Amino acid sequence: MASSSSSSNSAFRNGSSSAQRPLKPLTASNLKSSSFKSRVHPSHAPLSSFRRSYPSTLSASDDGVLGRVRVAVRLRPRNAEELAADADFADYVELQPELKRLKLRKNNWDADTYEFDDVLTEFASQKRVYEAVAKPVVESVLDGYNGTVMAYGQTGTGKTFTLGHLGEDDTSSRGIMVRAMEDILTEISLETDSVSVSYLQLYMEAVQDLLVPANNNISIVEDPKTGDVSVPGATVAEIRDQQSIVELLRLGEAHRIAANTKLNTESSRSHAILMVKRSFTGGEDALSSEIDNSSHLVKPSKPIVRKSKLVLVDLAGSERVHKSGSEGHMLEEAKSINLSLSALGKCINALAENSSHVPIRDSKLTRLLKDSFGGTARTSLIVTIGPSPRHRGETSSTILFGQRAMKVENMLKIKE
Ligand code: ADP
Ligand code: MG
Repeated sequence: MASSSSSSNSAFRNGSSSAQRPLKPLTASNLKSSSFKSRVHPSHAPLSSFRRSYPSTLSASDDGVLGRVRVAVRLRPRNAEELAADADFADYVELQPELKRLKLRKNNWDADTYEFDDVLTEFASQKRVYEAVAKPVVESVLDGYNGTVMAYGQTGTGKTFTLGHLGEDDTSSRGIMVRAMEDILTEISLETDSVSVSYLQLYMEAVQDLLVPANNNISIVEDPKTGDVSVPGATVAEIRDQQSIVELLRLGEAHRIAANTKLNTESSRSHAILMVKRSFTGGEDALSSEIDNSSHLVKPSKPIVRKSKLVLVDLAGSERVHKSGSEGHMLEEAKSINLSLSALGKCINALAENSSHVPIRDSKLTRLLKDSFGGTARTSLIVTIGPSPRHRGETSSTILFGQRAMKVENMLKIKE
């Protein structure tokens, strides 16, 4: 029973998200310099990285790589306040992880049951969550495909903990962003690969750079031929070791908080997006090294360049933003969050129903995520819920969002 035990909650009560170390003075100019480079000598990369050379063709029939969006649900452990309100919690949410089922009790007799690709209880470790939700996506990025991991849910349910927690005091609590970068850096060879990162915030339909905050109106560009989406105006930091990703995420998080304090808003009102690009040069290209029969010579193989992208998205809180009573800036903010998350919802519905029109252009969020849903992309969604029956309404709408996303086939060609 999900709600019956409190033994796992000590880390939570003690504040596993406790204050992070003070920021190092990282600036725009040293982003491109030594702090993000070369702490690990290329020879430290294991030989196994060559296993990860790209396939020379990408085919939609590759088993296990493509398919529908995978969706996991994660229940946050109870916090101190919720533990104190113990009685109210009985039986509200019941997780059956072995059956990959979640039950939401409506009353004493009746419960709605939902199935997911993974059901992660309040006892699930960050490692377990990473392995269920992100690792398959990271592996396909290492194989040359684009991948996306998104966290969706009400504010306070653990989206940022799941994706962005740095775990500097306790490495076992590190979130998906740090773990993904660690896996990528372990698997590649820095002789043949480069890994670069941009960290963005999408707020009020503007793309802002979390690494260099002055850079706050970045355009989204789509390659007319390949359909690839990019943000060429964003700061790009080359990553060569794990410590530099932690520093970069810490810098971005501080800028996110600072920007939001200045605007008198909360980070839960913006989407945070970590965009990781991997570029591979070299390796054997099977097609270019075929034997030339007339001369009996082997043609020298041409170096190949292949690129793939991993996008990790900590979405704004999905709770209904009440427009009533809001004025001016607050009203505009409420509208834009409703706009981007509802555009995402509409695209997911349209894709799930194989509709002839997917309203990708309705918001910057969906424009940025366009290549997460089409072609050869692999996408995972984690929906986060809290244990309190007080948020029954928000919890059910989060669950329904996740259920609809499970119907999205990534192989569909997006029709706009
Ligand atoms: P969100 O980003 O969805 O608003 P947070 O990630 O900030 O939510 O989580 C809210 C609080 O709950 C934070 O203090 C966070 O550290 C804590 N928390 C969330 N999930 C967990 C978890 N699985 N284990 C321990 N603490 C958690
Ligand atoms: Mg958050």
